[in-house]
Amino acid sequence: AAAARGWTFDGTGRTADGHRVQLLANVGDPKGAAAAADVGAEGVGLFRTEFCFLDRAEEPSVDEQTAQYTAVLEPFAGKKVVVRTLDAGADKPLPFLTDTSEANPALGVRGYRTALRHPEVLDHQLEAIARACDTSGADVWVMAPMVSTPAEAADFVARAGAFGLATAGVMVEVPALALTADALMAQVAFASIGTNDLTQYAMAADRLLGELAVLSDGWQPAVLRLVHLTAEAGLQSDRPVGVCGEAAADPALAVVLAGLGVTSLSMTARAIPEVAATLLSVTRAECVRLAELALAAPDARSARAAVHAELPPLV
Ligand code: PEP
Ligand code: MG
Repeated sequence: AAAARGWTFDGTGRTADGHRVQLLANVGDPKGAAAAADVGAEGVGLFRTEFCFLDRAEEPSVDEQTAQYTAVLEPFAGKKVVVRTLDAGADKPLPFLTDTSEANPALGVRGYRTALRHPEVLDHQLEAIARACDTSGADVWVMAPMVSTPAEAADFVARAGAFGLATAGVMVEVPALALTADALMAQVAFASIGTNDLTQYAMAADRLLGELAVLSDGWQPAVLRLVHLTAEAGLQSDRPVGVCGEAAADPALAVVLAGLGVTSLSMTARAIPEVAATLLSVTRAECVRLAELALAAPDARSARAAVHAELPPLV
C-alpha cells in the first residue's frame, strides 16, 4: 500500500521539526531480515529468536543457533539489532521448553521465566548471540521477554554481561514492570515495550480471543499510561525506550507513542514507509498534544477517534 501511495523511507525517522524517532523492523528469520533491509529500516528493534525454532523437539545446538543468528544479523552490519532471548510459552510453545499442561499458560512459565527453570538454555543462547555478534559486525543489543521485576532485569543483565553482551535490557510487557519503571532503568541499558502483551495483561483480555478485541487494543488509555510511565522513566535516566508491539505499526498510534516519549518504534517492515510519512507530517509538540488527547479518552475507540480527527490527512 505504501509503495502504491508513493511513500518511501529515507532511513531517518523523524517528525516535521526533526525530532528523531528511530524506525526499526520486527524480524523472525533471515528472510524477514532481508525484507527489513530492503525497506531501509534503521535496524532491527525485535528479533524474535523463538521463530527460528518453533518446530524443534530438542534444543538447537550452540553452533546451529550461531548460524541462524548470524544470517539475521549480517544485513545489518554497523546497525542496531535487538535480539530477544527465547520467548517460549503461551501463544508460542517450544517443545523443548514449554510445559503445555499449565492451566493458564499466559500467566505461567513463559519468556524469561523459562530461563529460571532451564538456566543452561539461556546460557547457550547468550553464547550463540555473542558469537554471531562478533562475526556479523552488527551493533547487537540483547533483551529478555516477560520480565516482571527490576530484580529479574538485573539478573538478566548480569548474565548477558558474563558473555560480553554489554548492551542488555528487557521488554516491558508486564504492567508491574511499567509501574516500577524508575527502579528498572537503574538496572538496564534500554527497555522495549511489548504492547501486545502489555495490553493483554493490563486489560486482562486474552490477545488471541477475537471476541475481546475491543479491549485488546493498544489505543486503550490505560495501556498508554503504562507506556508513558515507562518512557518518562527512560527519558529521566537517559535510557532509550522503544515500542516493538503491533501498536507501532499503526501510523496514528505511532504519533501518539512518540508524543508519550518513546525513542524508537519497531514494526513489521512493510509498515515503516507509512509510519515514517505520518511522523513527518507532525511536529514533536503536535505529537505531545495528540498523546494528551488519547490519554484523556474514556476508551480505545474514543482515543483513536479523537486523534484521527486532529491528524492531518497524508497526501
Ligand atoms: C509484544 O508482546 O508486544 C511483543 C512484541 O512480543 P510478542 O508479540 O512476540 O509476544
Ligand atoms: Mg510479548
